[in-house]
Parts: sequence; structure tokens; C-alpha cells
Amino acid sequence: MGIPALRSGLPSLDGRPDTPLLVDRFGRVARDLRVSITEKCSLRCTYCMPEEGLPPIPRDELLSADEIIRLVTLAVRELGVREVRFTGGEPLMRRELEQIIAGCHDAVPDTPLAMTTNGVGLEHRAKALRDAGLSRVNVSLDTVDRLDFTRLTRRDRLESVLNGIRAARDVGLTPLKVNAVLMRENLAGAPDLLAWCLAEGAELRFIEEMPLDADHEWARDHMVTAADLLDVLGKRFTLTETGRIDPSAPAERWLVDDGPATVGIIATVTRKFCDTCDRTRLTAEGRLRSCLFSDHEFDVRGAMRAGATNDEIADLWRGAMWQKWAGHGIDAAGFVPPERTMGAIGG
Ligand code: SAM
Ligand code: SF4
Repeated sequence: MGIPALRSGLPSLDGRPDTPLLVDRFGRVARDLRVSITEKCSLRCTYCMPEEGLPPIPRDELLSADEIIRLVTLAVRELGVREVRFTGGEPLMRRELEQIIAGCHDAVPDTPLAMTTNGVGLEHRAKALRDAGLSRVNVSLDTVDRLDFTRLTRRDRLESVLNGIRAARDVGLTPLKVNAVLMRENLAGAPDLLAWCLAEGAELRFIEEMPLDADHEWARDHMVTAADLLDVLGKRFTLTETGRIDPSAPAERWLVDDGPATVGIIATVTRKFCDTCDRTRLTAEGRLRSCLFSDHEFDVRGAMRAGATNDEIADLWRGAMWQKWAGHGIDAAGFVPPERTMGAIGG
């Protein structure tokens, strides 16, 4: 599939086949729904949030728990979504998280419900979340060095995150994955992070940093690449490439010291996988996005509150996905990052 040089304008809805599924113009089908449920966060990761946090979303502009449950149910029953992941901001900052998970689990009990979290405070809620119907978690952790952690997240909460990871594992929120964003600041500590994850039974995946930081400091020639990481890890571990588990999985995997444990790399920038992307996204204010890098959002909250039927919402969603661009275009000349940062979209 050709990746266009730049994203621009909204394409026409002409030519969309008559299918209930979330298909796009490039033959992809979105099956994986990311739902951001808050803009609030307990950390301030430098690659994601401004130091002061995101501007608060007024309560009445946030999707309510019932609205989230309605949209998740519709996405699964009418649009072919097969997995739902709650994110943010930090999903643990939303008091109704257990209620949202329980409501979704009751409505679509066979659909895996996952969460991406920074793990702060997870140790106190892991069991209740599992009991509500949460299937698994990805915890974000960039380093096991306390000083580096505090510098990167602007908060001294490493211990809480480590305890959260252990609690998630102990209550069976598995397979347990740890996500680390690759940066100059944590590259040297990557082998220690991998050793910690191996010892704790968590699958570590490194993610190339994307231009979605609040401070707009990301630069293509400064970013740490998958190749840089493999050099550093290769000095301590024997790594054997095994590829992807399935074609739409973003992580490429390497066996560590002949396995069975693996380490993954999500090379979003240098080995992009837009042509197999199966994501559709809902922001905390109820806007549909077809891609992290979309320039367009579709106001599903407004439609719902104006009395739209499920069929009308489903059509809005199908149209939004049909208009998805082929790729993020980060490497294209003239690339402009989206206005929203990662924390404001929901990673
Ligand atoms: N607060 C939760 C967390 O940190 O896991 C969920 C939201 S966070 C925006 C989701 C994921 O996006 C995290 O794994 C985070 O590391 C990642 N992320 C944030 N900013 C990023 C960036 N600029 N490039 C790549 N990944 C990023
Ligand atoms: Fe918060 Fe997650 Fe963004 Fe870090 S990556 S600031 S934990 S939303």
C-alpha cells in the first residue's frame, strides 16, 4: 500500500462497500478499540504531558460511564470490534473505572477488556478490576532506576509502579506486558529494565518515541531507534529475531537468551506498520479518531446527546473509519504533528 506523503483534507465517502464493519479505503478493518476515559494523570512523562498537566475537561464534556458502555457495546455488537482497551490520561484516575469495566463486561462478556496504565496505585485496585471483568493490563515503565524514573515522569513513584505490576500479575491480569518508550535518557538502563521484567514474569516491549509530546521537542534525527536499542541490549543478552505473532501485532519480537522469554520492539517510526493497523479510537470527550495522527475528529458525544439512534452512531463511526489515511507520514517532508498530544488522545 502506498503511504501518502502528507495527510490532508477529508476524502469522500463514495465507494464504501455495504458492510457493517469498520473498513477503510485501503482494505483494513478496525477491530481494536482504544477508549480514553480521562485526561487526568498521576505522572507527567516528558514525552507525553506538559509539566502542569492537560487542561481539565469539564465534567459535562466527558463521556459518562453509561455513554462509554453504550458505545463499547455498539462497537462490539454492530461494528465488529473484537478487543477494547481503556486508556487515558491515566485510567486509574477515573473513580468510575471499575463501574465502566463491569458495565462493558456485562454487555459484551466475550470481548477481552484491557487497560493501558502507568501502574500508580494499581496494587490497591488490581483485584477489584479483575473481578469487574478486566482481562489484562499493559503497564508503562521506562526505567527501574529511581532517579531516571523521577526525571522522566516528574514524579517519585517508581515503587508504586513496581508494586502495581506485581499485583496485576498476582491477581492474574495476564499476559502482563510492560511498555517502555525509548529515549536517550533511558537507553543505557534498558538492559536492567529487561532483566527486571524477566525476573518478574512480565513481557517487555520498547516503543519508539512518536512526535506526540506536549513540548514539541521530538526530532527525527535525535530519536532513539529500534536499531540503537538492539545494539545496547545485544551487549548483555543474546537476541534471536522471531517476528510478529500476527500481522496486525505492532511488536516485533526477539527471544532473549534462547527463550522462552521475549522482548518486543514497537518501531512505530523506523519500521512503521500502518498498512496493517486495526485501531479505532474514542477520546475522553467522545470524539472518534481513526488514527493517532488524524487531523479530523467526529463528535459522537454531540450526536448521542442530540438523540442519535444506535444505527446513526454506527454510520457516523463507519464513515470516520472509511476516511482514515493510509499512514502517519512522520517521515514525509512537511510532516506536521497533530494538535493533540498522546495523553490527550489516549495511547
Ligand atoms: N497513562 C497510561 C500509561 O502511561 O500507560 C495510559 C495513557 S499513555 C498516553 C499510553 C501509552 O502511550 C504509554 O505506554 C506511553 O508510554 C505511551 N506514550 C506516551 N507518549 C508517547 C510518545 N510521544 N511516543 C510513544 N509512546 C508514547
Ligand atoms: Fe500520564 Fe501515561 Fe502520559 Fe505518562 S504516558 S504522562 S503516565 S498519560
